[in-house]
Amino acid sequence: MHDSVPGDCLRCGVCCFSTLETYVRVSGADWARLGADAERVTHFIGHRAYMRLTDGHCAALRPRRAHDGATEWFCTIYDRRPQICRDLARGSPACLGELATKSSRPASFYLAVC
Ligand code: SF4
Ligand code: SF4
Repeated sequence: MHDSVPGDCLRCGVCCFSTLETYVRVSGADWARLGADAERVTHFIGHRAYMRLTDGHCAALRPRRAHDGATEWFCTIYDRRPQICRDLARGSPACLGELATKSSRPASFYLAVC
């Protein structure tokens, strides 16, 4: 795996950051899987649903402090996350693209809220 790829997605979270309202597409099957949380974490643009973006990141993303003091980024709907999130594998070309363009965003956000 490429040297720049974190060993654990929880210590990264980069691909869950965006300012684009259409960043994470939510299909009909994704919507059904979200169940009671669908209204809270998604929004519609026209007839299409997307994950809601809040403060530059997905509304389902939360930071937490790990046992060693490091910041972790976890998906609060991980078991029910949209297919597009399931398909983005750590170390894949898509992951490398995210890291290349947005790797400073999680740190900037955490500093801003602490
Ligand atoms: S898939 Fe890549 S960009 Fe996304 S959290 Fe994991 S290491 Fe970071
Ligand atoms: S649904 Fe979860 S994995 Fe997908 S962008 Fe949002 S926080 Fe990240």
